[in-house]
Amino acid sequence: MYGWAGQRLRVDLTTGKITKEPLSYEYRRKWMGGRGFNSDIIYNEVPPHLDPYDPRARVCFGMGPVSGTAAPSTGRVTVSCKSPLTGGFGDSNMGGHWGAEVKYAGYDQIVVQGRAKHPVYIWIDDDKVEIRDARHVWGKFPREADQMIKEELGDEDIHMMMIGPAGENMVRFACTFNDVWRAAGRTGTGGVIGSKNLKAIATRGSGTVKIAEPKKMMDICNRLRQAFKTDPMGQGLYAIGSLALINVANRDGWLPWKNMQGGATPLANNISGEVHSQTVLKHREGCYACPICCGRFTQIKDGKYAGEEFGGPEYEHAVPTGPRLGIIEDANDVWHNARLTNDYGMDGIETGGVISTAMEWYQRGFITTKETGGLELEWGDAETVSRLIPMIARREGFGAILAEGGERAADKLGLPDEARYYTLTTRGMTLPGDDPRGLGFGYGLSFSVGTRGGCDHLRSLCCLELSGALYPGLNTKILGDERGNKPITTANKPYMVFYEENQKGTTDSLQVCCFTTHWSYAVLTPDQVEYLNAVTGLDFTEEEFQEIGERIVNLERAYWNRIMSGAREDTVPERFTTEPMPQGVEYQTNVGVVFPLNDMLKQYYKYRDWDPKTGFPTERKLKQLGLEYVAKDLAPLRTKYLSEAEKKKKKYHY
Ligand code: SF4
Repeated sequence: MYGWAGQRLRVDLTTGKITKEPLSYEYRRKWMGGRGFNSDIIYNEVPPHLDPYDPRARVCFGMGPVSGTAAPSTGRVTVSCKSPLTGGFGDSNMGGHWGAEVKYAGYDQIVVQGRAKHPVYIWIDDDKVEIRDARHVWGKFPREADQMIKEELGDEDIHMMMIGPAGENMVRFACTFNDVWRAAGRTGTGGVIGSKNLKAIATRGSGTVKIAEPKKMMDICNRLRQAFKTDPMGQGLYAIGSLALINVANRDGWLPWKNMQGGATPLANNISGEVHSQTVLKHREGCYACPICCGRFTQIKDGKYAGEEFGGPEYEHAVPTGPRLGIIEDANDVWHNARLTNDYGMDGIETGGVISTAMEWYQRGFITTKETGGLELEWGDAETVSRLIPMIARREGFGAILAEGGERAADKLGLPDEARYYTLTTRGMTLPGDDPRGLGFGYGLSFSVGTRGGCDHLRSLCCLELSGALYPGLNTKILGDERGNKPITTANKPYMVFYEENQKGTTDSLQVCCFTTHWSYAVLTPDQVEYLNAVTGLDFTEEEFQEIGERIVNLERAYWNRIMSGAREDTVPERFTTEPMPQGVEYQTNVGVVFPLNDMLKQYYKYRDWDPKTGFPTERKLKQLGLEYVAKDLAPLRTKYLSEAEKKKKKYHY
């Protein structure tokens, strides 16, 4: 066998049992790896109505067939679970080096189940796997615990998966880290890991990944690395990181301003990538085998936070701790609050999302200092935000309410239905820092149907709709149609979303970074198929590559369908579809735009072969994808979903 290690490691923290399970050729060919393997386990082993924090729930860590090879960016890992934030299917993926190390230790996937009696960490040293006491590192920030575990094991070169204090306290949007700073932010995977009393998985691997055609593989990788040298998106990400998007977002009116009440602000440049690079950038960081190196490492130089250091921020980290909360005057406030969300281990998008929602509730009188325990939630008040972030992580006072996420917080506060207008979630998860009234109608469509709730840039951002200026002719090359190459048009967007979701489904299962393909375009699908075949010695085709992604998307969709989430829930917050984008700066390009979701949904269902009434995949489609057992599961639920009793139920699925 080439590429794959060929086995899954399963650790039961209740019984202490450790098993290694072979992964058959048919299984690997069907699900590819990483996200695909994980989604299969979640679908089959985590009943749809189980509490995500029940010890019987699983959390999976998936690597792919090319993880640990010289293909571009092969250190990524997908973490999957039943999401404690949404109650539906949840996953998120992270960069770093840990994924490669786990492959070198001999595993394609790790599945953790059960709950330990006290905090533990798992130590994988090739074949040897141990469950060790972690009581001394419980409560520590990841950067502290990482150092302590390395000292204890006497090896500085160990790589680790880790959670922070928020995960330990089961904050519903706690994240998971790889190598301290690379976060799997979304859907609350860190809370599920914390519910199992698991702090970290430390790994040392001394093996290799067997390559079927090493010479061919080297030639392909050299060619692709050359291509990155002239790729405009890749070069931009290297130069100023994803913060490069701040000024672009402001110009095109999709920079969230005060919970997306606006899309631009005259002070945006204060936190731009250009300014960050000139003021607080300490150095750049890259994940395993990455030709781009988009990672930043920040050191605050002056003011009251002088000396603070952290890995990041990304665009999606600076925006929710900055303009989404009206904080923009002093960039150090933004860097400081981004650092806090990292240290405490919370998804930046969801943290900013829930705080900005609370600020808008406060602005509109739904809550007062009575509910907040005396906190005045004024826009732009960075000091209050820096108090609130640790309170959320520790579940203290008003922080304990926000730790539940926006939808549950509305319930706990007993707010009227109108207050939910300001939660800006889809299927219970906050949408990222990109307003579809500017960033794109395709992206907005993907928010509504995304298989991990409100989706985001790492799941379904259709960069093809942004590609007009940077990559002329690319839409025709990939989709056979150039019309969709601008964000503010519905033309060809349903097909583009269908195509890109499938593409990312397989890319996430190879476990390579989407920034290196179909974000930047130095690597296209045929290149991925070429290196996949050189590694595995198999004969994958482009069609099969896309079909594997399509199978994964349909399986994840079916998980939602089993909890009665379908076409009715394929929505976006009404703010986007009803409020014309206001003017924030003179040069803004999208003033007055509203997002026309319904024009695109029907077409999208057609490409997917999903029933437009229920939004469930048809039996025909499921059988075509080799998912007969899923078709059987959904059969009795189709009419139930359309029943009056179901329609009257709350539309939130958490
Ligand atoms: S592009 Fe950035 S996030 Fe992706 S693998 Fe490279 S350094 Fe990591």
